[in-house]
Amino acid sequence: MTNPAEATLVSRKVVLHFPRQLVDQPIVCNMVKKYDLEFNILRANVTQNEEGLLVLGLRGAEAAVDEAMKYLSDLGVKVQALAQDIVLNEARCTNCGACVVICPTGALALDPATRKVNFYNEKCILCELCIKACPPRAMEVHF
Ligand code: SF4
Ligand code: SF4
Repeated sequence: MTNPAEATLVSRKVVLHFPRQLVDQPIVCNMVKKYDLEFNILRANVTQNEEGLLVLGLRGAEAAVDEAMKYLSDLGVKVQALAQDIVLNEARCTNCGACVVICPTGALALDPATRKVNFYNEKCILCELCIKACPPRAMEVHF
């Protein structure tokens, strides 16, 4: 393993998708110990089909962070890099509901009273599935 004192330190945000069979295992805890990383849980969620979703901030030696991501992938955790924020552009939104169906966390929901789609930022785990699903490109990635 690389000595952090001699290495380039990097901070990285990642979205981790844990399959159902891995949700209860202390994988993140083991990973940060093994690769000597600092971490911060930014968001955590379990979806309807019991997949675990975790948005993590990581800091450590660049090579160690890369090795840690490979460690997760080898265990069956899907790793997605993250460096942005998601915004619903209401001026563009036609309230078609396509994003509501695809959003894994309920961050996009149809209000039955107004028939408008609302975005609950605090539930968003920045997976970007809604970006491709939105026909008028009303879901935007902001840096
Ligand atoms: S990025 Fe879009 S699809 Fe993913 S959680 Fe956020 S609102 Fe839902
Ligand atoms: S898919 Fe796009 S246009 Fe349709 S409700 Fe969602 S944000 Fe609005």
